[in-house]
Amino acid sequence: MGKTQNKSTFYNFTPIPLGVISRKELLLQQTTHKNESNMSKMRFFALKELSNRKAIETTPPAKKLSDYYGSHVFDRKKMQEYLPREAYKAVVDAVEKGNPISREMADLIANGMKNWAKSLNVTHYTHWFQPLTDGTAEKHDSFIEFGEDGEIIERFSGKLLIQQEPDASSFPNGGIRNTFEARGYTAWDVSSPAFVVDNTLCIPTIFISYTGEALDYKTPLLKALAAVDKAATEVCQLFDKNITRVYANLGWEQEYFLVDSSLFNARPDLCLTGRTLMGHSSAKDQQLEDHYFGSIPPRVTAFMKELEIECHKLGVPVKTRHNEVAPNQFELAPIFENANLANDHNQLVMDLMKRIARKHNFEVLLHEKPYSGVNGSGKHNNWSLITDNGINLFAPGRNPKGNMLFLTFLVNVLMMVYKNQDLLRASISSAGNSYRLGANEAPPAILSIFLGKQLSATLDEIVRQVGDSKMTPEEKTTLKLGIGRIPEILLDTTDRNRTSPFAFTGNRFEFRAAGSSSNCAAAMIAINAAMANQLNTFRAAVETLIEEGVGKDEAIFRILKETIIASEAIQFEGDGYSEEWRNEAARRGLTNICHVPEALTHYMDDQSKKVLIGENIFSETELACRLEVELEKYTMKVQIEGRVLGDLAINHIVPTAVTYQNRLIENLRGMKEIFTSEEFEELSKDRKELIKEISRRVTAIKILVKEMIEARKSANQLSNYHDKAFAYEETVRPYYDKIRDHIDHLELEIDDEIWPLPKYRELLFTK
Ligand code: ADP
Ligand code: MG
Repeated sequence: MGKTQNKSTFYNFTPIPLGVISRKELLLQQTTHKNESNMSKMRFFALKELSNRKAIETTPPAKKLSDYYGSHVFDRKKMQEYLPREAYKAVVDAVEKGNPISREMADLIANGMKNWAKSLNVTHYTHWFQPLTDGTAEKHDSFIEFGEDGEIIERFSGKLLIQQEPDASSFPNGGIRNTFEARGYTAWDVSSPAFVVDNTLCIPTIFISYTGEALDYKTPLLKALAAVDKAATEVCQLFDKNITRVYANLGWEQEYFLVDSSLFNARPDLCLTGRTLMGHSSAKDQQLEDHYFGSIPPRVTAFMKELEIECHKLGVPVKTRHNEVAPNQFELAPIFENANLANDHNQLVMDLMKRIARKHNFEVLLHEKPYSGVNGSGKHNNWSLITDNGINLFAPGRNPKGNMLFLTFLVNVLMMVYKNQDLLRASISSAGNSYRLGANEAPPAILSIFLGKQLSATLDEIVRQVGDSKMTPEEKTTLKLGIGRIPEILLDTTDRNRTSPFAFTGNRFEFRAAGSSSNCAAAMIAINAAMANQLNTFRAAVETLIEEGVGKDEAIFRILKETIIASEAIQFEGDGYSEEWRNEAARRGLTNICHVPEALTHYMDDQSKKVLIGENIFSETELACRLEVELEKYTMKVQIEGRVLGDLAINHIVPTAVTYQNRLIENLRGMKEIFTSEEFEELSKDRKELIKEISRRVTAIKILVKEMIEARKSANQLSNYHDKAFAYEETVRPYYDKIRDHIDHLELEIDDEIWPLPKYRELLFTK
């Protein structure tokens, strides 16, 4: 095995008897002595790297968490310290009452913010926003400016705090660019505090076109939160006049995979698409479920520890971390917060995770399905509504009146989900999530709600007891007694269902269909806007009855009854992953759309428009543009996958297969020399079969890749983004599994020592 060996014979080395040199050492010799840059070298280099990995420990900045929690956030405490009294009051009034901030105050606030930031050695500032791509965007500027006399000074004015103009044309805008002004601007979201990352002051902002159309996730989210606030407050006022605001909360649970960065870099598919486009399943994956209960490996713990410290410095209240079901899969969850802040925090954390992971020689995979045949990653959105006097509207009260309020909101959620199944599905539909939903690990693409047996029984009781004529005092007492028992019922936490896409979990609803890489705002916009719309409908119906002379309680009961009956189909207590449910759901008329572009087009349904345009979350143009962006995003992702798959198949897998095939042929020639022809006939059968099989698969791969490229070409010719997305889904994407199947079979046949890509067992089981 000398240095003179040329590339073609590289794979054909003579095996050295075991015991003389270990296989691993041999591989390392093979790879370290070669100059060719081929993929299999990447794989073996990567595997070699692994032996040098160690946990990288971080020490927290202070002993007590409370001493550094929020140290990098310009929160109220710091505002009081750094801002003049009137400037502080201006911020508080803006957050709490929505009052505008004057230019003069903005200058004072900016100056205070800069002084605080400088105490953390900050040199730059940026408007931090959430364009319609994945992730966040920022454009860093330093504080320096020319002063009056041309000297350099450090300044951060109110104008710069409040508004910036990044070039909107470089972010997805779905045609707004063509229709309107190219310029866009970012504007400060006072309700989310500024924070410091590294040497940069980050100011959370909305991002809108010059003509006012939203180009981001935050703008419509803030509108949806305002809409649900207004609608929910009005419904609350039927019960309690003291309630003047209702806030939506979000507690997200972020699932993710970790993979060693060397292995990651040796997988072009992971690098470019976030998922493996090929790879035979490992002999062992999650069957034993030992990962879920197992201890977290030290390297991973070290990463998690640093991530937590950074999160806490940024005021992100991360609380739980644990292993997930699949090997090398984990979850991070904070304590829930106001939905806008929680969503900013999730965006920030996704970004932090990636950066901190790299320091620990890991890559974070946020894709919904990085590995086929292994559980994917979701991002459960725990959602609740809470009043300004601290009542959780999804938790039963202490008395029948409180329970009525609870039941009212609960029943309206049933109807909200029932009426808006297609909108909710559209909000979580993406190329990545489509591999996860319905894959025996995640809810299907059918929306349903789990309430628990006892709570459903309470609703049945309302339906039974409430009639169209006036209720007798006895009837009212029985009903109220039943309702009074709700808190006890809910203590029974065993009544949980892990397979429901929209589950009631005691004091909140958990929307489990959202994907791990998504911006939670998409789901939160849909849910809160739809809830606002449903609550408005409910209140109008109750008020009509009251105007007709029906007593308030009774009016509420009657509309509740109607709503329960009308939304009955959405309640499901059984196994959401089962085949029977698919059939049952179809019988109930619930929709089940797995076709991503089709699911997305439901953003433009009459019902979706009624919610999103009717509640002033989007204008007609904005909604159309949003759909366009989503469809284009889908097309681009699938297109990139197709390109990477074609490249890997033709330039990496086929040559490897041919090399191995040549080796077999060479072997047959040698056998022929030393055996008699009868012996040869008998002994060579299996190898000939194998050569045939490899030839068959190589040919199939080549044909399929060619066809896929043709399909892509015709899809690319379609100028309409809608047709293009449909063509990609229907004519291009089906090739991926077919091509993969041949490759995965080849992986089983071909000598491990020449296989170019890190295998599933390596990706999934190295710590
Ligand atoms: P699970 O059993 O689903 O794993 P966790 O204890 O991990 O539950 O909590 C999931 C998330 O739900 C956390 O972010 C938590 O803060 C959040 N959560 C708890 N109560 C509420 C609530 N009332 N509203 C919104 N989110 C909540
Ligand atoms: Mg959960």
